[in-house]
Parts: sequence; C-alpha cells; structure tokens
Amino acid sequence: MPKNYNLACAISHHGREAPQAPAVVCNGQSLTYAELAERAAVLAARITGSPGWQRNKGQPQIGILASRGIDACVALLGACWAGATYVPISLKQPEERILSLLGQCRLSAIIADDIGMKLLTERLVAVCPQPIIHTSFAATSDRTTGSVQSVANPRTILEEPVLMTPSDTAYIIFTSGTTGAPKGVMISAGAVRHYVTTIVEQLGLRATDRALETCEISFDFSVHNMFSTWEAGASLHILPANKVMNAVKFVRNSALTVWNSVPSLAGMLRQVKALAPGSLACLRITVFGGEQLPASTVTAWQNAAPSSVIVNLYGPTEATVFCLAQVVAIPLPLTPERDVIAIGTPLPGNDAAVIDKDGQTLPDGSTGELVIAGKQLADGYLEAPELNAARFPTLNGKRWYRTGDRAIRDAAGRFHCLGRIDNQVKVLGYRVELEEIDAHLRVVSGADVVGSVAWPLADGMASGIVSFVDTSEIAAERIIDLLKTRVPPYMLPNRIIFLKKMPLNPNGKVDRSTLRQLLENDPA
Ligand code: AMP
Repeated sequence: MPKNYNLACAISHHGREAPQAPAVVCNGQSLTYAELAERAAVLAARITGSPGWQRNKGQPQIGILASRGIDACVALLGACWAGATYVPISLKQPEERILSLLGQCRLSAIIADDIGMKLLTERLVAVCPQPIIHTSFAATSDRTTGSVQSVANPRTILEEPVLMTPSDTAYIIFTSGTTGAPKGVMISAGAVRHYVTTIVEQLGLRATDRALETCEISFDFSVHNMFSTWEAGASLHILPANKVMNAVKFVRNSALTVWNSVPSLAGMLRQVKALAPGSLACLRITVFGGEQLPASTVTAWQNAAPSSVIVNLYGPTEATVFCLAQVVAIPLPLTPERDVIAIGTPLPGNDAAVIDKDGQTLPDGSTGELVIAGKQLADGYLEAPELNAARFPTLNGKRWYRTGDRAIRDAAGRFHCLGRIDNQVKVLGYRVELEEIDAHLRVVSGADVVGSVAWPLADGMASGIVSFVDTSEIAAERIIDLLKTRVPPYMLPNRIIFLKKMPLNPNGKVDRSTLRQLLENDPA
C-alpha cells in the first residue's frame, strides 16, 4: 500500500487506536477522535457522493466558510478526507474580496457553518460551486442549500481518507496581495506532512497534551495548531474569538499544557495586566510565531509560565507555516541592537540563507534578504506565473523562496529578522501588504497619490493603519465606509490624513518613512 499523505489520516488513526480520547473542545462541546473521524467520514461520503464529483479530473478544491470552532475542524477534515484541497475563506472579508478569491479558485464544493451560510449573499451564491453543504450535515441530518440533491442515506461513511500523494495540494491559503487582490499559496500534502511530523518531534508533543487554538482557519498558524496536536493524539482547545482577552483564565480552567499564539496576543494580555506571576503555571510548552517576538513579552511570559519552554517560530505561509525555530533560554537570544528574539536556525528539511539583490549568498554578519529552500516550499501562487518566477527563483540549481525579510546570520549560524525590504506589515498578527490598501484607497478616494503606514507601533508591533491621501474632495468617513466593502477590518485605516503634497522618494514613490515621521512628530 502506498503511504497516504492525507491530512485526515491522523484523525482516522487515533479514531481507531484511541477512540475515546478527546480531539477537539470548544464552547463546552467536545468530540472524541472516534466522533471527529466519523463526522469527517460522513462529510466526505456526502461530498464524494455528489453528482459530478470526479477526482480523476484533477484534484478538487473545497472552500471552507467557517469561523474557528468544532464545525470548522469537521469541515476542513471532511474536505481532506474526501481527497480535496481545502481552501479556507476568511469570514472577516467583505463580499468583493470573497468574490475575487472565488474567481481565482475552481472550487467543487463549499462547506459552511451558520455564520458562513449567512455571509452567502445572492451575488456570492451565483458564483459559488454546488453543492454548498452546511456543517451540521455531519452531525445530524442532511441540511443543504442550493440545487443539491440529498443523498439517500445521510450517515454513509467513507471508510478511510482518500489516498493522497506528496504532490497533491493539501490546502490553499490566501494572503494579502500587492496588486489589490489576495494571492493563493498552494501547499502540497508532502510539505505539510513534513512540517507536522518535524514539529511534533521538535516540540516533543504528547498524547496527554492539551493545546490552545487561537487562530482562524484562514491563517496558516491554525495548520500548526490543529495538525501538530492531532498528530500527537492530543486535544485541541479552541479559544472562542469573543474570549480572547480571557485567554489566561481559559488556559487555567482547561489545564492546558501547550500555548500557541502570535506574540501580539501575549503583548495585549501583558498590557491589561493579565500575566500575573505563575498565572500560567500549567503550561509546559509555549509556541510564539508569525511576527517578531519582543524581549519584554518573553520576560513577562517567563514569570507567568515558569514551567514552560518558549519557542519562537518563524516562517512565511509560502514555506508551510514555520521553517526556523529558536528556543528561548536565558540569556535571551536577542537580535543585536533590537529588543526582539532571534529567529534561530532552520528546522530539519529546511535551508535558509541571506542573499544580496543579485542572488549571491552573503557572508555571516552581512544584511540581505532571507531566502528559504527545502521540503516545505509552496508549489507557488495560484495562477500567478510571473509572481512565482519572481518569488521562487532557482539559485545555484536550487529552488528558493524570497521572503522579503531583511536578515543577517550571526557567527553562531543563528538568523535574525531585521524587518521588511518591502511594504508588508503585520497588524496584530495579520499579514498586510500596504499596497493592497493603497490600491483600494486610490479607487474609493479618487486620489492620485496615496500612502498607508502601519501605526501606532508599540514594542515594534503595529496595532493599526494610518492612510494619507492627496485630495480632500471626499470625507474621511466616506472613504472608510467605501473601504469597508473592499478590505477586511484589520486592513481598515483608523485615520485618514489629507496631505496636499505627498512626500516622494527619489524614485517618485510615496516616501512611507517620511509619513511615519509625520506621525511620530504629531501622533494625535
Ligand atoms: P505569514 O505568511 O502571515 O506567516 O507572514 C510571514 C511573515 O511574518 C514573515 O515573512 C516575517 O516578516 C513575519 N514573521 C513570521 N514569523 C516571525 C518571527 N518569529 N519573527 C519575526 N517575524 C516573523
């Protein structure tokens, strides 16, 4: 039998070997591995039993419109179990952006939870594939919308996850795109399988662990949270979005042993004084990743969670979640002249280097662009050959991903991230291309010259956006209202500033550093 790379295999395996072990818990509800496996298998049978479902026409893609919770887990496992690529669609985006995303995919079905169903406006349904399946299908009876015929026996089960090879696509995750449209990153089943097995081993996750989920399924950190937990046979405890500021209490009440989040969440908890000494004594592993980890956050965390090892994981979506790791010991492994933690060394199976603009590898201590190679590289962006050629070049016979991160490697072989060479920013953990905001800003404001910056900054992390436009023909409130129909809330500027003369750099582009300087001089 060839090895099956289907992401649902871990659920199927533990469903047989440890059927009563808890797999996922949220809002007072929980599913054992046997129950989760059964629900995924029911959903998969429903999908593969749909009229016109044919895997031999190429690998099908299934869109998942669900907010984080048990239903979202069942939905994406059902898609995986059926042998499909799962495509999470963020519920936080306006109709226009979902339309743009749907236009780029060739989805064969959609699985949606209650909130996802409500989002499906007439305009969206008109371009959505059929069937559209409600997540409750797997739990109780056959509830579908659209022109779907119901299956004769709703409890039909697809016994095993459909065989997937390493080159099949496991998921497509959309990230902010500079042109104004989000771009889809295609991750193969082989790449994610490699990541999951590697990270479980590196972190030493165990079946007795109880791990925290803080992410929506459209952010690839969720891939780490779900699949590393399930690979280990441990239980995943989903922190509901409305309880984020109660995370410490949640961890204590659920006796969690593994914390997973962006550092911003820990920073916010620190600001509201929720990180009392010893308040997270139950934790044995803390995973921070996805953005720079400030030393101040680490120090507060070490006091709150004295029994926990802290690991800083670095990686772009394009290299399957995380590809470099730094265990945070004392003395703190700091990046020189910055109060942030080093991003460490490549995880097994990954390679990293610092290159100059001609693609030549730089010696240790020189600043350049960080590039990644190895088993976790994405297959590329969906339908974007030019972007793929630019971002995934072959250098010295090897395929690399140009991260856009400015970095150095120190004499000990440890990498440090020094910021971006482009205009990508992280706003409270969300990846945002400032050009994507600008593209929409230009259209809705009618301004010729616009420029957005991440602001304000605290501990080097941005908690919002401020946009500048060179016209005052249209009111700021109106601009924001129009932007709301085009970009998700975390991309909305909290302020619009009208500037008659926009500062330009020698290339004639808007000079964002001068804009930031203006805010620093007059933060009001
Ligand atoms: P995403 O694809 O959303 O995970 O964003 C990837 C980008 O986030 C990277 O290219 C970095 O700019 C940043 N990033 C991710 N992890 C870290 C980290 N541990 N330290 C500093 N920056 C990070």
